[in-house]
Amino acid sequence: MSFPLDRPGNAAGAPPGATGDGRADVLGSAADANVPGSAVPANVPGSAVPADMPGSAVPADMPGSAVPADMPGSAVPADMLGSAVRADSDACPGALRLHDAADGPLARVRIPGGRITGTQLALLRALAEEWGDGHVELTSRANLQLRALRDVAPARLAKRLAAAGLLPSATHELVRNIAGSPLLEDPAQVTALDEALCADPALAALPGRFLFAIDDGTGDVAHSADVSALPSSAASAASAASAASAASAGSVTVLFAGRDLGLRVRHDQVVPALLAAGHAFLTSAAREVETGRRRPWRVRELADGPARMAAQTAATLGVTLGEPDPHLTRPVLREPIGIVPQRDARVAVGALVPLGRLGPDALRTLESAATLVVTPWRGVVVPGLPADSAETWMRKLARAGLETAAGSRWAGVTSCAGRPGCAKALADVRADADATTRPGAGLPVHWVGCARGCGSPAGPHVRVEATGTGYLVCHAPGNAKPTTGVPAPVGVKPTTGASAPVNNEPTTGAPAPVNNEPTTGAPAPVNNEPAMGASVPVGEVAALVAAGRKG
Ligand code: SF4
Repeated sequence: MSFPLDRPGNAAGAPPGATGDGRADVLGSAADANVPGSAVPANVPGSAVPADMPGSAVPADMPGSAVPADMPGSAVPADMLGSAVRADSDACPGALRLHDAADGPLARVRIPGGRITGTQLALLRALAEEWGDGHVELTSRANLQLRALRDVAPARLAKRLAAAGLLPSATHELVRNIAGSPLLEDPAQVTALDEALCADPALAALPGRFLFAIDDGTGDVAHSADVSALPSSAASAASAASAASAASAGSVTVLFAGRDLGLRVRHDQVVPALLAAGHAFLTSAAREVETGRRRPWRVRELADGPARMAAQTAATLGVTLGEPDPHLTRPVLREPIGIVPQRDARVAVGALVPLGRLGPDALRTLESAATLVVTPWRGVVVPGLPADSAETWMRKLARAGLETAAGSRWAGVTSCAGRPGCAKALADVRADADATTRPGAGLPVHWVGCARGCGSPAGPHVRVEATGTGYLVCHAPGNAKPTTGVPAPVGVKPTTGASAPVNNEPTTGAPAPVNNEPTTGAPAPVNNEPAMGASVPVGEVAALVAAGRKG
C-alpha cells in the first residue's frame, strides 16, 4: 500500500511559494495554461449555443468580442494589441469558444472541483474518437480538453456536452472555474457554488481566469485561487499556538488571492461569501477601468484588491472582519497517488497521468468508475472505493499506463502542448520529455516549446525551454517570487535569493506578476522574465534537470 506523496522540498510552515514544489501553484497559472490561444474560429461564437440550453444571451466577453491580447497565433499582431483590447477579453477556450490550435479546434470542458462521472468521461472519449485525436487532456486547473476537433460542428459538440451535463450554462461556461481539493469528501459545496454561480447573471462577466476554490482544509487549492474557502479548524490545527486560529476554529476562512484578511464565515455562508467576493471583484475591476487602468483578470492584479474585496464581501454578508491569522501558512501538500484512506473507511486510489494525456485504454478504464476526480497536478483519483477493491484498481490503472507509485518518473513533471498542437512550438516537448525524464525528487519540472512558457507553475520550478536548437534548463522562481528575478541556469543559484513572501505578495512595490499574462500589448515574456543560459542538446537535458531539481 502506498500513501500520498509528501511533496519534496516542501517544509511544514514554509511560506506559500517557498514550498520547493510549486505544484500547488499551478492553479494560479495562466488559466489552464497549456493551451495558448489564437484567433477564435469564425464559426464558433454564439452559433455553438444549442437553443435548448440554459442561459440566454452569450456574455459580452464571449466569442466575437475583442481579440485577446496575449495569445500566440492571434490574428492581430502582438504589438498592435494595446490595453484596450486586453481590457475586455481574456482568451480562455471553452466548450463554446473553441481555440484554433495548430492541430485543429480545441475545446475545454470545465468540470468544477475536477469531478466527473464515469459516464461523462465515456462521452468525452466518444467525442474524442469521433471528432478529435482520440485523447482527453488534463489541464493545470483540473479541467479536460478535446483536441483536433477538425470536422465537428460546434453546435453539435455543445449539444452533446449539454446533454451529458457537461455544459449546464451557455452564459457562464467560461466562468465555472472552481477548484476543489481532490480528496474533498463532501463535494456538495462545489456543486452548490457552481449552481449559484450559473444562476447569477452578473457573474457571467467574471474573467475566464478568475478562480474560486473550495478547500478541504489541507490548503492544497486555497492558496492559489482568487477567492477560496478554507475550513479553519484544519488550519488552526497546524498553528495551534495562534489565538486567532483558536478563536476561528470551526469556521471557514475566506482567502483573497491566498491572503487571510480576517473574514470568517459559517459553513452555510461559504457559497454566499464566495459569490459576494465575485461581485466585489467586479466592482473593484470596474473602478480600475474607470481610472484608466487595464481590466484585471485576477485579484492580485487589483491595487489593494484583496483588502477592498474582503471589506466589501464582509459588508455584503453583514459580518465584521476579524484579525488575520499570522500563522496561517500553506501546509505540506500531498499529491494523491496510490491508495489513500478516507475517513469513512473507504479508500481512494490516485494516479498520475503522464504529461496530462489520457489515451483510449486509460479512458476506458477510468470510465468504469462511478466518479472520478481530476487533480490540478495532472492526475486522477478514483474515490469512494471499498478497501478490498483498491489493489484491483491499482492494477487496472497501471495496466492502462497510469502511474500509481510514489517514485514515478512523472511525479512533478509537466509540459505545454508543444508540437504538433501549437504553431509556436519549437519542439515536440512531450516526446522529448518522455525520452528524457528519469525518476527524481525536488523541484517540479515544466517543459515548454517556446519562450512563452504556457502552463508554468506559479511556484519555483525547473523550466526546460525549447530553443529550436536544443533546450535551456533554468530555475524559474515562479510568480511567488519578486518580479526582478531572472531564471538562473541550472548549476547557478537564483540570484534573487529573497524568500517568497507570505500569501504570494511581492516584496517590492511592483505589482505581482500575473502568471504569464502580459500587461501590455508587448510580446509575452516567460513568467515576466527573460531566459538566460546556454542551449544544450536534448541528450544533455536529463543531467541538468536532475541537478536543477535539487534547487
Ligand atoms: S509552444 Fe509556446 S506557445 Fe505553444 S503551448 Fe508551448 S509555451 Fe505555449
